[in-house]
Parts: sequence; C-alpha cells; structure tokens
Amino acid sequence: MNTLLPTTTAGSLPKPSWLAQPETLWSPWKLEGEELAEGRRDALLLALAEQQAEGIDVVSDGEQTRQHFVTTFIENLEGVDFEDRRTVTIRDRYEASVPSVVGPVSRRRPVFVEDAAFLRRHTEAPIKWALPGPMTMIDTLYDAHYGSREELAWEFAAILNQEAKELAAAGVDVVQFDEPAFNVFFDDVKEWGVAALERAAEGLSCETAVHICYGYGIEANTNWKKTLGSEWRQYEETFPKLQQSSIDIISLECHNSHVPVELLELVRGKKLMVGAIDVASTEVETPEEVAATLRRALEFVDADKLWPSTNCGMAPLPRSVARAKLGALSAGAEILRRELAG
Ligand SMILES: [Zn+2]
Repeated sequence: MNTLLPTTTAGSLPKPSWLAQPETLWSPWKLEGEELAEGRRDALLLALAEQQAEGIDVVSDGEQTRQHFVTTFIENLEGVDFEDRRTVTIRDRYEASVPSVVGPVSRRRPVFVEDAAFLRRHTEAPIKWALPGPMTMIDTLYDAHYGSREELAWEFAAILNQEAKELAAAGVDVVQFDEPAFNVFFDDVKEWGVAALERAAEGLSCETAVHICYGYGIEANTNWKKTLGSEWRQYEETFPKLQQSSIDIISLECHNSHVPVELLELVRGKKLMVGAIDVASTEVETPEEVAATLRRALEFVDADKLWPSTNCGMAPLPRSVARAKLGALSAGAEILRRELAG
C-alpha cells in the first residue's frame, strides 16, 4: 500500500432500495433468479463507485453480494439444513432463528470468488474481501452433528481457507475475517479461537485481517453496550494473543466507543484498521472529529501501519448517511496526512 493512511471500511454498505429493504438487517432480496444475480452485481458497481467518489483507498464490494455476513456463506455449504431452523442466542445477546448443522460440513462450490473477480476487473485499487471467522460462524448456527464448538470451528477454518486462497488468486489484496464473537467468548479465543483463525488464513498469498467490533447499531447491541461499564476492556483479553498471531491487520472499534485507546499498544507491530466512524449513529462525523480519533491512535500505532476505517459495517444506515460518513473519513485522514507531511 503506497498511500499513507489508506482509508477503508470494516465491511458492509447500505443496499439500494430496489435490491433489499433499506435500514434492515438480514433484509430479504427484492429480486430473484437471474434478476437477483444481475442486481447484486449492479449494486456492487454502485458501491465501488461511491467508495471511490468519496476517496476510499482500499475498496470492497460493500457486501452487496450477501444477505447477511455469516448466513450467505453458510448457505453454500454441505451439511447445513436451512429448513431445520432453531432459535439460538447469538453472542449471548439476542435470539435469532438459524440453520442447523446436520452432517459433515464441506464447501459445495466457491462462494464469493466470481464476485471478487468481477470487482477486480472493475478497479485498479487494492481490494479487501470479508469472510466470517470460524468462531462467529459456529455462533450463528445450531449444531446437531459435531457436539463440539471447537471441532466444528476447525472444520469451518479449513473451508474458509479454501475460499480465501481462491479469493487471493482472483486478485483480492486483503482477506478479512469477521470475528465479533472474539469480544464475547474469551476462554474459547485463547484456547482455540486464534489458532482456528490462523488456520483459516494459512498460506495465503495476500494480506489477512481480523475485524473485532461491538456490532451494528441495532437495539440488542446498544442494550448490551450499556452493561459493559464506562471502560470497554474486552480487547485486553484477545489482543496479546493476536499480537503473537500470523494475522497481519487488526480491525477495531474506536470513535464514540468506550474502548480505552491505550489498548492499541497491545497489538504494537500489527497494522491497525482504526474505527474513526461510529456506525451506531446517523450523525455524520466532521473531518476534524475523524482526525482527532486518528491522532489519538497515532500515539500507539506507527503512521505507516494505520488504516483509517469505520467501526463496523454500515448496512443498517440510510444510504445518504453512509456515503457522507465515507467522505468524512477521507477528509479526516487527509487532515492527518498533511500534519504528518508538515
Ligand atoms: Zn463489526
């Protein structure tokens, strides 16, 4: 990456209203069959154009290719029954109806590889592609076959590794694994979570990232955050292990969050995607607010390792708000670049 402070997003952007109901998570598609395939690609190109118009350096598909960041991947696996749905509590926080694992899991076909190649053909910019992490996958399922969270996580890690290698071969520059579950299940993270993540990222020819956040701005998450006290020290549990890991980039939440910024010191040496945009508020940050967050982060991360980013995905936000936030992110990063150059 030649740009100093390359801007990027943690993941999703809002979908156009002709493709899916806006401001809704897990929103069902409004199209089907060939029309849906075409609509998703049109939306991907729009998301790309909006990121580039707003000055985002490391671009993505804006997750226009998926209904949900975990379930769309799982839908393409053998061994998962989508008719046999059970209600489980996700990340100890909210209930959702999820599919069941009913037999050995395997990847039936590449899931996002064609979409990634399509994005690659339309831009020269570095591209980042998000996949769910193994622990977050098992947390979004009911397991009626393996009877062991760890065993199922290792199976998913091997499947993710196949997909990630093909994404890299298709020209993806950064494969990012989303692991919000790392902020909840600390014992599992230490015992096998980071190891399973490294297995998913093993042998990749591109850079690898892990995204750990406090979630979308939905009610269940907002209520959970109220229980976390005045200082959110969850990263303290996982960062020392991640600092030792083979993962190149850590994506974390920062702006408007109660995460003490000095915790960034725990992953010194890694590249950091620092969240300088709050996804739980429709208020658009000023460039100066973005710059202030990045300036604080620079006390704990070297400038050549800082990637200004969003706290999490922006799928549930109004489209105009998300776009304005992208612009604020770029403008804030530019303030800092000028300061560093001066
Ligand atoms: Zn997130």
